[in-house]
Amino acid sequence: MIPTSTILLVIAGVVLIVGTCIGLIMAVRTYLKYPSKSLVTCPETRKAAAVHVDAGKAARDVLQGKHVRIHLNQCSCWPEREPCGQECLSQIENDPQGCSVWGIAQHWYRGRACAYCRKPIDKIHWHDHRPALLSPENKTVRWSEIPAEKLPEVFETHLPVCWSCHMAETFRREHPERVVDRPWKRGAMGEYIDESEETRESQPVHE
Ligand SMILES: [Zn+2]
Repeated sequence: MIPTSTILLVIAGVVLIVGTCIGLIMAVRTYLKYPSKSLVTCPETRKAAAVHVDAGKAARDVLQGKHVRIHLNQCSCWPEREPCGQECLSQIENDPQGCSVWGIAQHWYRGRACAYCRKPIDKIHWHDHRPALLSPENKTVRWSEIPAEKLPEVFETHLPVCWSCHMAETFRREHPERVVDRPWKRGAMGEYIDESEETRESQPVHE
């Protein structure tokens, strides 16, 4: 016959393990809920700001059974506007993934054609090479190298470029003596053009 105290001890142990597992799952879900970098409209400047939610603290609050209140630990408007009321947090709380810099870039690229090879740029995976942008000055740059708070205005003025063409154009720019150029097949921004087309398309090929 198993002593009652042993049974109670086993039940308490099971409850503790299950409770710990549930707590850990909730903490991980809270941590993953907030993107590594978010883009918001600063309520004070009315301009885009790149911010980072302290997801680690939110996860620790979950583990400690506290009420979770998210905070920023980085903002492109700091230190000039620090400390602020962090009113922009409501934008992230309402739509964490919609504010994600990664998600915003993915949405912009998806279905758009590369300015050089005209191939559509499909979904960007984290393990893929990052696509690039073609500036009005005819220079390509990876989108991830641009400060996130500048992306909204950059997306208005730049064209999408796939990774392969970005590498080819970078080589061409840095080693012009080793490249045979064909200027009659390039547009005003240096992009390749299909001679059968009269206008350059920069719009998505399918939406
Ligand atoms: Zn391309």
